[in-house]
Formats: sequence, C-alpha cells, structure tokens
Amino acid sequence: MHESLLAQGLSVASSPEKSDFHLINTCTFIESATKETIDTILSAAKVKKKRKQKLVVVGCFAERYPTAIQTDLPEVDLLFGTGKYALAGDILKSNFPNEFQEIGEMNAEIISREKQFRNSDKKKVPYAFVKVSDGCNRGCHFCIIPNLRGEFKDISEDKIILDVNKAISSGAKEICIVSQDTVFYGKSTDKLKEIIHNITLQPGLELLRLLYLYPDKKTFNLLSVFQENPKIAPYLETPIQHVSEKMLKKMNRTGNLNFFKELFQKAREVQDLEIRTSIILGYPGETADDVDEVLQFVEDVKPEKLALFAYSPQEGTKAFEFGDDISSKEKARRVNLVREAHLNVLKGIHQSRIGKIYPAIVDEVNGDEVIVRRFQDAPEIDEIVRVTQKNFSVGQIGKVRIDSFTEYDMDGEFFSV
Ligand code: SF4
Repeated sequence: MHESLLAQGLSVASSPEKSDFHLINTCTFIESATKETIDTILSAAKVKKKRKQKLVVVGCFAERYPTAIQTDLPEVDLLFGTGKYALAGDILKSNFPNEFQEIGEMNAEIISREKQFRNSDKKKVPYAFVKVSDGCNRGCHFCIIPNLRGEFKDISEDKIILDVNKAISSGAKEICIVSQDTVFYGKSTDKLKEIIHNITLQPGLELLRLLYLYPDKKTFNLLSVFQENPKIAPYLETPIQHVSEKMLKKMNRTGNLNFFKELFQKAREVQDLEIRTSIILGYPGETADDVDEVLQFVEDVKPEKLALFAYSPQEGTKAFEFGDDISSKEKARRVNLVREAHLNVLKGIHQSRIGKIYPAIVDEVNGDEVIVRRFQDAPEIDEIVRVTQKNFSVGQIGKVRIDSFTEYDMDGEFFSV
C-alpha cells in the first residue's frame, strides 16, 4: 500500500493533523479490535473538522461493514478492503482528482528519498513472510475471515518465487509461508510439496517455516517433508482450536483428541520439532468436561507453544446465532486454568532445554544485547534467547546453547558457524 501511495506522489505526513489524506488501516477480527477501530475513526473524524482532508478507511472493517460505515460515519470519504491495498494510490487519485492536482509537484527525487527513508527506518530483520494463498473454504462457524477474504485462491508459483527472491535480496535468510489455509495450496499435498521444494532451492534461503497448517490428514501427509528437507524449520504450527469432538463439530471443524495425539506423535518423530497450537475456550455449549479434555491434551501432548483465546462472538458468523452462554468471567477462568496447566508443562520443557545446543539465527543486535532465535521458534511470536556476547550481526546463522530461562524466554551463548 505504501509503495502504491508513494508512486502517486504521496508521502507520509508527520501527524494526522497535517495530512491531506488520513488513511486508517482497520481490523475487525475480534470484538476488541472492532471497538478500537471505531474509536480510531471517531477520533479521526474530530481531526478532520480542523483541517481540510479526506478520511479514508481501509482493511477488514471497511470490507465487513461498508453500509454501516456509510450510514453511521458520514465523515468517512472513501472505503476499500484488503484486496485493494496495492492499488491504494490509484484509488485515491481517481476518487479525489482535485486534491491530486495540488500534489502534482511532488517529483521523482522526493519519492525516491521517501523510499530510502522508509527502508532505512525499517528495522532490519533476517526473515520475511510470504503469502501463498488468500481466503478460506473451511467455514469454521466462529470465523469471520471467509466473509472478509472470500473463497480460497492460490497465489501463482511464479509470484511466490518472485516474492521469496525479493525478500532474500532484501536480507531475509528465513522465509515464513503464510496464508489462511496453507495445506489447501494447490488442492493437493503433492503440489504443496512441490512448491515447498522449489522455494527451498532458491539461492540464499537458509530456512523455510510453514505456518498455518490446518490439523487434518493433509497436514499429517505433509509431515514427511520435514524429515526429507533440512531447510524446513522443525516447527509445526497447527491451530486445533479445541480437542473435544463435540465442540469441534459445533465449530464446524474436523478432528478429535485421538487424531490430534496421533498427528503430534508423528510430528515429534522429526528431531527436536516443537509444536505451536491454539485453543478457543468458552465457545457456546462448552462444558466442564470439554475443558477437562483440553487440560488432558495439554498434559499429554505438551505443546511447547500454546495460544489461548476466550471466545468472542462475531456478527455475521454462524456461531453468532448460537448465542454466548458463558460469561466473560467464566471464559477468563477457563483460559487461566489452561494457561496455568501449560505454564507448568513449559517449566519442564525449559528445564529439558538447559545445556542443549540448537541451530539459531541472530534476529536483533541492540548495543551489547544480542537476540537470537532457535529454528524451533517463529519470528515475532515465539521465545527468544538473549545472549551477551558481541560482534554478531543480524541474520548470522549459528548455534545457541541454552543456559537459563525466565517464564517464556531464555538466556544462552551463541556460536557462529
Ligand atoms: S480455517 Fe482458519 S481462516 Fe479458515 S474459516 Fe477456519 S479459522 Fe477461519
């Protein structure tokens, strides 16, 4: 989006009060995000009263509630969704031709300085996220994403490889594959295996991380690539959302406790592989027995990383029609109960890591502090290892020995190779 705006001669204003176009990029995935979005638009509407400017709302909220925004927020001049980010500059120009006449003097030199400034301002990181598909056909009853992103669409292999190479030439050593439903890529596991293989052949790529693998047979069948291809991170990210079969059916999801145990047992055959999953608690109709099943799962499978969410109903989803029969207090209690159980499990996991040596990458260098990440941890979300040695640079690959840990993160020593 930023590049498209720059290409049309727009640059970043120092504050909303000084902007000609005030763009608000929105989210509406959960209730709190929607509330924050509305509050932000209302504050922007106040700014607009003080200055002649156009208020533009983009992203998920714009896509989800176009009529309501037009009716209830007349200060908003224009709306467009996530699918049009790359065209943002053209959209603004065609909708506000008069305003663009005034911007016409912005010349190529200024634009190129802007680009340079943006690149130097951006924190240098040794990883990049590359999208392989958009949309989702699964239809989980609690999820608004299919309404927002539409049907599943593959991104062409050429575009994916181009994005991977662009990221590598900008300094990425690690590529994280993202989508709403990665195992659906190419609609066959063989096709997905083929693109994974082709990505790992790209010169300069050290590590490929597969994110968002739906916990079904396709993911089960994909596990062999983790064994076969040393460039794939030993990391299985598969959001199960619950373990009780009754709840999963009510969520319109597949799986059950036995299948998940089988899946994770198979995944653990990959040396030192770690698991990230997520669970929603307090979904309509969830009973104490269902929560006990979750606790049993945590105890038995011991996922290294576990994201826990209290269910929040989303208007426009099937689950919204089921009501919301569990109080917020009870949902929070259930989340805390499972979190406590997981923290106990995590303590044991951390202890077993002490003295072990893992392949790792330098993520950040801040003066004397160096932040290293094991291949078992995804960027921006998982644990890090703090090391105090000097003279390492971002993107260096090596090994880290774990010496101690706090609740989530670790301390250790890094050895470059
Ligand atoms: S698979 Fe994921 S994105 Fe697709 S509907 Fe289910 S929760 Fe939403």
